[in-house]
Amino acid sequence: MEKSNGLRVIMFPLPLQGCINPMLQLAKILLSRGFSITVIHTRYNAPKASSHPLVTFLEIPDGLSEIEKRTRDVTLLLTILNQRCESSFRDCLTKLLQSDDSEIEEEKQRISCLIDDLGWIFTQPLAKSLNLPRFVLNTYKVSFFKDHFLLPQLRREMYLPLQGLITNSEQDDIVEEFPPLRKKDLLRILDAETEVLDSYLNMMLETSKASSGLIFVSSCEELDQDSLSQARHDFQVPIFAIGPSHCYFPGSSSSLFTPDATCIPWLEKQEDKSVIYASFGSAVTISESELLEVAWGLRNSDQPFIWVVRIGSVNGAKWIEGIPEELMEKLREQGKIVKWAPQQEVLNHQAIGGFLTHNGWNSTVESVSEGVPMICSPFYWDQLQNARFVSEVWRVGLHLENRIERNEIERAIKRLLLETEGEAIRERMELLKEKVRRSVKPNGSAYRSLEHLIDHISSF
Ligand code: UDP
Repeated sequence: MEKSNGLRVIMFPLPLQGCINPMLQLAKILLSRGFSITVIHTRYNAPKASSHPLVTFLEIPDGLSEIEKRTRDVTLLLTILNQRCESSFRDCLTKLLQSDDSEIEEEKQRISCLIDDLGWIFTQPLAKSLNLPRFVLNTYKVSFFKDHFLLPQLRREMYLPLQGLITNSEQDDIVEEFPPLRKKDLLRILDAETEVLDSYLNMMLETSKASSGLIFVSSCEELDQDSLSQARHDFQVPIFAIGPSHCYFPGSSSSLFTPDATCIPWLEKQEDKSVIYASFGSAVTISESELLEVAWGLRNSDQPFIWVVRIGSVNGAKWIEGIPEELMEKLREQGKIVKWAPQQEVLNHQAIGGFLTHNGWNSTVESVSEGVPMICSPFYWDQLQNARFVSEVWRVGLHLENRIERNEIERAIKRLLLETEGEAIRERMELLKEKVRRSVKPNGSAYRSLEHLIDHISSF
């Protein structure tokens, strides 16, 4: 561990799996560079403090009721959190800033900045009033970050015309303002878009532009070059793309759920590149009939698999009791169904040959940095654009156009694992992986960006 540099960084992650993990990975990087870290967090989805003994954790009340905690409407959850956490966060931060002056010379520490998530919108004016630089941590791909602020405008201009396109060949056209998204993908995003979200997006845009800088923890020039130049031009604040941050500390994921420890020993017994890993991340939910389609697709592919079905992820069911016993018997012989997996370790295992994924950006980048080709089954939001990058720009995966359907899943697994088409995809993925891995090594673009970030926050 590096000697203390006398600077403390305050972090405030949104209480969502996809936000806590990257924030704590950044915390580990900064700790290794001599910074002290305080993480202020909500009671809801509190990170596991015991896994991070060097970090100081401070809990604030969030005022969420049990019903609110169970909502699947992320915009609603974020709106409520922003209302209910403002005063407790302000009190906590103010106290920290006031106690920032130890009498003992060696213990003197200065709070250099606040790093929080894009979704916290009250923190920018607060940080400004306290004269504290605020950096916005982003877990999206840079292109989605930059383009999604156009959604309110696209909804006004395109939603109705797009609805008329459902059966039209134009639905496959690329949306000029949002490449490589197709019009049919945009329709799926806009279907879920509301006016509440519009105003929330506008506030996030304003507070990002007013911040002291944007930190992209899972992007680098190699994955996002054009979007990065454009974002630098549009936002006029320093932008740091420090690369897949988990590459700096492999296997250090901060999971809210307990990963099934039997996955790796089971993978040890499988042949190289033979196993399909299937997971739709921490937030997607599916219907019972979609559960059955995946089950049959995996069964009929006849390939070994690890399939993550989160508790509560099948609407109206406890877990996988909807799968008939006869099919379950076959599935048990062929693979493993688990409630949560040590995903980064699984993807890193030589037995894995492909990843059936919802294309959340963390999962997508973890797959790229382990060189695992993907079968893309995006559900909503940024997943739709990420999936197009994977299947059409980098061509390192196959896209399930008809969403979740057993024959399509079976066909895609066979194409990827057993056919020459799969070999070509694997070769392209290997090249992309090498580029991304080089990026986080000394002199790589992500590594240099991290150095700039560290110099920058040390200067406050
Ligand atoms: N993850 C995991 N085990 C699982 C499923 C997911 O550790 O069984 C982790 C995965 O490694 C990734 C995160 O959960 O870091 C999911 O983030 P992503 O952005 O892919 O999707 P989201 O959950 O935000 O939809």
